[in-house]
Amino acid sequence: MQSVFRRKLVAQKPIIATQVPFVDLRAQYRRLRRQILAAIDDALQGMQLFLGPNVRAFEDEFAAYCGVRYAVGVGSGTDALYLALRAAGIGPGDEVITVAHTFIGTVEAIVQAGAVPVFVDVDPETYTLDPSWVEAAVSARTRAIVPVHLYGQMADMEPIMQLAQRHGLLVIEDACQAHGAEYRGRRAGSIGDAAAFSFYMSKNLGAYGEAGVVTTNSRSIAEVVAMLRNHGSTSKYEHAELGVNSRLDELQAVVLRVKLRHLDEWVARRRQHAELYASLLQDVPVKLPKTRLGSTHVYHLFVVQVDDRDRVRQGLEARSIGCGVHYPIPLHKQAACHGIGRVVGDLKVTEALAGRILSLPMFPELTKQQVQYVAASLQELVN
Ligand SMILES: *Cc1c(COP(=O)(O)O)cnc(C)c1O
Repeated sequence: MQSVFRRKLVAQKPIIATQVPFVDLRAQYRRLRRQILAAIDDALQGMQLFLGPNVRAFEDEFAAYCGVRYAVGVGSGTDALYLALRAAGIGPGDEVITVAHTFIGTVEAIVQAGAVPVFVDVDPETYTLDPSWVEAAVSARTRAIVPVHLYGQMADMEPIMQLAQRHGLLVIEDACQAHGAEYRGRRAGSIGDAAAFSFYMSKNLGAYGEAGVVTTNSRSIAEVVAMLRNHGSTSKYEHAELGVNSRLDELQAVVLRVKLRHLDEWVARRRQHAELYASLLQDVPVKLPKTRLGSTHVYHLFVVQVDDRDRVRQGLEARSIGCGVHYPIPLHKQAACHGIGRVVGDLKVTEALAGRILSLPMFPELTKQQVQYVAASLQELVN
């Protein structure tokens, strides 16, 4: 930690916050700069950039972090989901049950695999797949469920796994926002048949470019993903299947290895900020995020619900507070998804959320003053 004296000299963080970015990736880089540059230099001196030693080491380290046997590094979170689905044997004619309250990548992966997305509603407290809709969504063609661990909290995996077992379905977790989150003592990515993680720059564990990983306890899924990510190749210029070019980049693996060592500490900071937000906002008419009993939240996003959301958002932005809406248009209403998939029920919760949710600034390097400024500004705007 820098002393207050030095902080004043370099004037990086005014004591009274008057502006708060939505995320600040520079603040993190400043702390890690030496380690990252040294590790990148090592990797470039070694010049083994094709599925090199850092990719393999990161795969082992990330598998251990999640508590799974295998992790296979790929080019993005969307590709991770697509490749996991394909490796699990999901393809044309199959239906995959998922949610419409998520990032577009979830449904792109399902459709790219040739399958049909079937949208069900989310739980109004945790914003993750509501298992009570699954029975109504199952058809003769259903092959898999893709629960999304949204905002940093895992979906309700126990009933989901039970339903999957009863109907003979696979479960592929979209864990792109939930690195390190736990459900009854098990980490995201370790409960379903396979899981997809994204290391997009602003995720809780972010590379400096595109990157993702598939985790699984299934040796065959891991082997098929490893083959598909590299043009379906089994050995040089021998191709068992048509795959894709989606390997994890060696330099991104270098960055991810350095950052993974800090992930738990960053998550702890996010939790502190979440607690402070919650205590400052307890008597303010906003609905705070809720953590399911037996789960932990890693607060990729800190999402509240407010009345008159667009006015509140504009008010925060006028006070130089960055915020976001994740996500303003449910997938079944996106132009890109027109005529794609099937909707089960009326998605009442999904549609109501789209007009009420607001993501407040959340990143490990936030200061207490910044959280206080955001909370005070929000209080003024909603009262
Ligand atoms: C980020 C994200 C993805 C896609 O990851 P990319 O690495 O950007 O391809 C998929 N699903 C969810 C829920 C995400 O947040």
